[in-house]
Amino acid sequence: MGDDHDDLLNTGDGGITYSQRDHSKRDTEDQLRLFISSVVDYAILTLDERGHIASWNPGAERIKGYLADEILGQHFSVFYPPEDVAWGKPAWELECAIRLGRFEDEGWRIRKDGSRFWANVVITALFDESGELRGFGKVTRDFTQRKQAEETRELERLREALLARDEFLSVASHELKTPLTPLQLKLSSLRRLAESNPEALLADGRLVRELISAGGQVRKLADLIDDLLDVSRISVSRLPLEPARLDLAALVHDVATRYGAQAAAAGCHLDVETPPGVEGMWDRRRMDQAVTNLLTNAIKYGAGKPILLCLRADDTVAVLTVKDEGIGIAPTQQQRIFERFVRAVSERNYGGMGLGLFITQQIVEAHGGSIHVESEPGKGSAFTFKVPRTAMTPGNPTASIPHA
Ligand code: ADP
Repeated sequence: MGDDHDDLLNTGDGGITYSQRDHSKRDTEDQLRLFISSVVDYAILTLDERGHIASWNPGAERIKGYLADEILGQHFSVFYPPEDVAWGKPAWELECAIRLGRFEDEGWRIRKDGSRFWANVVITALFDESGELRGFGKVTRDFTQRKQAEETRELERLREALLARDEFLSVASHELKTPLTPLQLKLSSLRRLAESNPEALLADGRLVRELISAGGQVRKLADLIDDLLDVSRISVSRLPLEPARLDLAALVHDVATRYGAQAAAAGCHLDVETPPGVEGMWDRRRMDQAVTNLLTNAIKYGAGKPILLCLRADDTVAVLTVKDEGIGIAPTQQQRIFERFVRAVSERNYGGMGLGLFITQQIVEAHGGSIHVESEPGKGSAFTFKVPRTAMTPGNPTASIPHA
């Protein structure tokens, strides 16, 4: 009875005794051993302090292909590709595990049959109570299928990017050729005339007219090239701005005047509504480009119908809407058209590289603003951008409008 009492010391933690604890500790160790020896999804092994394999489970056998008898006692560097062994990767991993307690890696490893598999490896340094290194625990998972799936996805992404690039190159070459062809024709006819009948060239201001028209084609080409340059600049960094005091109302009128003849030729009546002066800190060239892009799109996609440019402002923001009554945009395309190279119309019916709205959005966002479209197919579109009256450039986040 007395011996029993020695064995059944009450620990005060809910009636659990030391002997029960010893028993459950043994149970746990047995369970752990059983668990490790039943796991087939993970290679679980231990290494001695120098990296020789000390234990091996069925998961290790399944993933790496060695039976326990074949591999126990060998150095774990047999699993590494020769190029990794050459620079001492296995030893380096053990050093890292000792220093940090744990080391994790993903990379190629070698099976017994020489084939490679993509492994996720965790090595844990095992220290005893006195802090002495007793070896390492190593858990390896075979992520080959996951890696292959990732590679397939990456290949698919690359393939799509290549297709998009090829499509873009064909659209861009077509767009660049459009003004170039009439320019070439014009120049050769002028040359023929200059050689055969120079007087006719000077009569009625013909030479001046032809030069003005050739200048127009050159400007179109330069604009297309500028768009391409902008897009490549934007892909490297955010659009740089040079904000200065600017009257947006005056700028909107300027752009409308500049494109008045083109609008009239397309049968568009242009209406401009602005308050007298809407000053803010904006980059003049870029704001001009944004307004121009929206207006030229309205003329292109809203030919024969009126266009309204409407500017509103309060103390903090200016809001410009460019509204047409043209072909409109399908709801599914309304977000996508702001992405670069995206066009919602067929190449056959309308030219364009799908860059104007992308650049416009970048300009508006670089000013700390936003842009959106409301549109109904067949009824027309209204593009609205909102910009703060102080330019939000990184170096000048709270700039106020300086007095003139
Ligand atoms: P694009 O050079 O093709 O006009 P944008 O980036 O300016 O390039 O416009 C992208 C697409 O958005 C166009 O291809 C067209 O489908 C659509 N879009 C732009 N503006 C309008 C508009 N005012 N009305 C109808 N569709 C428009």
